[in-house]
Amino acid sequence: MASGGGNYRNGTHRSSLKGTTTTSIDRPLSVNSNPSKPALKTKSLSSVGASSGLRKSSPGSLGAAKDDAGVPGRVRVAVRLRPRNAEESAADADFADCVELQPELKRLKLRKNNWDTDTYAFDEVLTEFASQKRVYEVVAKPVVESVLDGYNGTVMAYGQTGTGKTYTLGRLGEEDTADRGIMVRAMEDILADVSPESDSVSVSYLQLYMESLQDLLDPTNDNISIVEDPKSGDVSLPGATVVEIRDQQSFLELLHLGEAHRYAANTKLNTESSRSHAILMVHVKRSVKGREPAHSSENGNSTNMAKSLRPPLVRKGKLIVVDLAGSERIDKSGSEGHTLEEAKSINLSLSALGKCINALAENSAHIPVRDSKLTRLLRDSFGGTARTSLVITIGPSPRHRGETASTIMFGQRAMKVENMLKLKEEFDYKSLARRLDIQLDKLIMEHERKQKAFEDEIERITTDAQVRITEAERNFADAMEKERLKYQKDYMESIKKLEEKWMMNQQKQGGERKHVCASFYPTQEQMVSTAEEVAEVKKLLSKETSLRKAAEEEVNNLKSQLAQLKISEASTNSEILKLQKMLEDEAYQKEKLEGEISMLQSQLLQLSFEADETRRRLDRGGPGKVPGGLDSLIAQVRPQLKDSGNGEKASIAKLFEQVGLQKILSLLEAEDADVRIHAVKVVANLAAEETNQQKIVEAGGLTSLLRLLGSSEDETVHRVAAGAIANLAMNETNQELIMSQGGISLLSMTAANAEDPQTLRMVAGAVANLCGNDKLQNKLRGEGGIKALLGMVKCGHPDVLAQVARGIANFAKCESRASTQGSKTGRSLLIEDGALPWIVQNANNDASPIRRHIELALCHLAQHEVNAKDMISGGALWELVRILQECSREDIRTLAHRTLTSSPTFLAELRRLRIDF
Ligand code: ADP
Ligand code: MG
Repeated sequence: MASGGGNYRNGTHRSSLKGTTTTSIDRPLSVNSNPSKPALKTKSLSSVGASSGLRKSSPGSLGAAKDDAGVPGRVRVAVRLRPRNAEESAADADFADCVELQPELKRLKLRKNNWDTDTYAFDEVLTEFASQKRVYEVVAKPVVESVLDGYNGTVMAYGQTGTGKTYTLGRLGEEDTADRGIMVRAMEDILADVSPESDSVSVSYLQLYMESLQDLLDPTNDNISIVEDPKSGDVSLPGATVVEIRDQQSFLELLHLGEAHRYAANTKLNTESSRSHAILMVHVKRSVKGREPAHSSENGNSTNMAKSLRPPLVRKGKLIVVDLAGSERIDKSGSEGHTLEEAKSINLSLSALGKCINALAENSAHIPVRDSKLTRLLRDSFGGTARTSLVITIGPSPRHRGETASTIMFGQRAMKVENMLKLKEEFDYKSLARRLDIQLDKLIMEHERKQKAFEDEIERITTDAQVRITEAERNFADAMEKERLKYQKDYMESIKKLEEKWMMNQQKQGGERKHVCASFYPTQEQMVSTAEEVAEVKKLLSKETSLRKAAEEEVNNLKSQLAQLKISEASTNSEILKLQKMLEDEAYQKEKLEGEISMLQSQLLQLSFEADETRRRLDRGGPGKVPGGLDSLIAQVRPQLKDSGNGEKASIAKLFEQVGLQKILSLLEAEDADVRIHAVKVVANLAAEETNQQKIVEAGGLTSLLRLLGSSEDETVHRVAAGAIANLAMNETNQELIMSQGGISLLSMTAANAEDPQTLRMVAGAVANLCGNDKLQNKLRGEGGIKALLGMVKCGHPDVLAQVARGIANFAKCESRASTQGSKTGRSLLIEDGALPWIVQNANNDASPIRRHIELALCHLAQHEVNAKDMISGGALWELVRILQECSREDIRTLAHRTLTSSPTFLAELRRLRIDF
């Protein structure tokens, strides 16, 4: 019973039943097997005072869903893709689907352009191959099971007209039972589970158009009113026909009848069914026998209620299946002849539903349930304690990308999960930014303070040393002068004494010379006095000598003092040197801090950018589920921005205003590697938005990004920069710019050094974009673009191969165009550069993006007779024949056929080989 739907239900249903011993999931659908259920209901009703016995439905279930703790209120959302129809197969032949599904990951990728996609998570992702059985099991079965347990439940289909809402819900499957839709299968399950004696199943079938509710089982009844029990909050339609259903056949007849009336009503009103909502209501009433209200002991504060819960018990559940009006916007000019008022009214219920979902998703205090009939009708059956499933239907065509995107966003909002968590995260961003700011201020202040103290200290030491030196010099000079004067004075005195002596001697000798004449030999006295004089002179001399010695000593003394001073001066100098070194260290630290500061600034910038985006998204009631990681956050946010161009412009304007594009770009060349990485990420994020691309290029961003490929050694920088370049390379002018700045050789070099396949994917994506430019074909090839692409296939990663294949297909297409116009003659440059073997090898690659591109490339190459010989010898003819016979895309098959039959060379070869096709 639970098979197939297991994944969808697991977890949520269980958690909704916490505190009970059994769950409704894993048991068979029987009435009495879950005795603990009433206790749960009583509990959840205690706050709303419901009076209807076991009924869990409560006033304002729509409102009750805003309680985040109420996991059962979480709307489960599945997305279903319709296969291409014949018209799309022909018209979109050259284009890929606008979505790519990853059912095993429960993810959907929405293509933004041929380069970029946004990814969304859903509760279930149903591919174009999903069977009706599986769709029923994952979307509706859990709801049906809980209706059988006495809950209310809703299954809705939302999507553009023609995407398969009615196919999913309303198919009768009378020719082929495998085709049966949700309504029929739900009734089968219900009828199989109830017992005809004690239970009853009844049905109403209605259409809601322009806020008037029509009975599809009784067309005369076309203004049914909705009544709400003010006490219990139960919604009922007293005027609607209610038909008791006993078997499946009578239900099918009833659906037929409803369809016929719907058709007639729409013809009468001159409307299309795609503008109205079809609503099937199934009431299930079951008696619950032999049940003791054991729950009263389980829940002490519900004694009042316990009284009303005594047997006989009746358990009522209501299932509402809504085939919503087409979600496409009504052409207001009135292609269907509607006035604006009518147009508003036609979509009123649908837009009111959207508003309620937004309000619920935002945890808003006010849920505008009363704004439309649809939301009033669903009031007790949507969200809250009721179980709700939404299947959003989309088509594959890239021409309806806008509608598909808005359908996806509707589904995302309906999922409404863990909003609080997200809000907290956003708060953390803010406080982190604030903390970083404060820390930054502190660091700067501390740094300035230290710097100042160092400078002061150095000045003090320098002046101190200066003073000491001057003092020492002065002392030395003073001492020298004193010494010199003393010495001079002594010297003068001794000279004077000697002179006096000498004079005295002269005088003596003058008196005695007369005696000498008489007697040549000195007398005894003369000899004595001379000896005395000599002794005196000797004495004088020795005194003189000792004086000089003293002076010399003094001089030596002074000299040694001077040397001492010199030493102390030297030590002062070395102290100064030490301080200078410290100062240099300090300056280096400062530089490092400045680097850190700019890194923090760039982080801040990115954080504030993201916080802004997140805030705006949350303000607007963004999608519920936001998977972790910044990339996915941005990916989630971006399509919302798309929705409201003004919001995006405002945010970019704000970002530019706050930091300035120039500043962001200048950070690309920052010294610090981390800063560079952050900056290039910011630039890449900006470059992903088409509106920023021109600004980035004008401000020199493209040149900087290219330069980074050459100058940086960091692979992350390479990868992110190449991604940004690839985005910018979608524009023709930018393509020329990239080529003129040596882009091909820079990209080739990056590819040659890359280790991460994602880097190669970015590079290949960029080259692939360049390959699509008619004017650049020769230059691109001349600079080795084709060789570079082929060089990347070594890596073998399918993402890389897909980009290479895209590049080759782009190139072949341009070349083919040029050949047709006569501006190119001679063999394909792809063949010249040796691409053919790889093309042939991968023409039947398992991965469909690779295969598609290559199939197209082969068809383009084959259109020109000059290539035919090489293609035959390279084995391409076999591939073309295979494409013609096996390709699932009709348009490509046709192209291959046309190509083969118009080439004489191919035809001759096929004849020779006796191949018939
Ligand atoms: P809607 O109700 O959303 O306007 P329909 O249910 O009428 O769309 O589907 C439009 C067309 O597409 C119908 O011809 C339908 O048979 C076909 N179709 C829709 N979904 C599928 C599907 N999953 N597989 C095959 N055909 C489908
Ligand atoms: Mg329909």
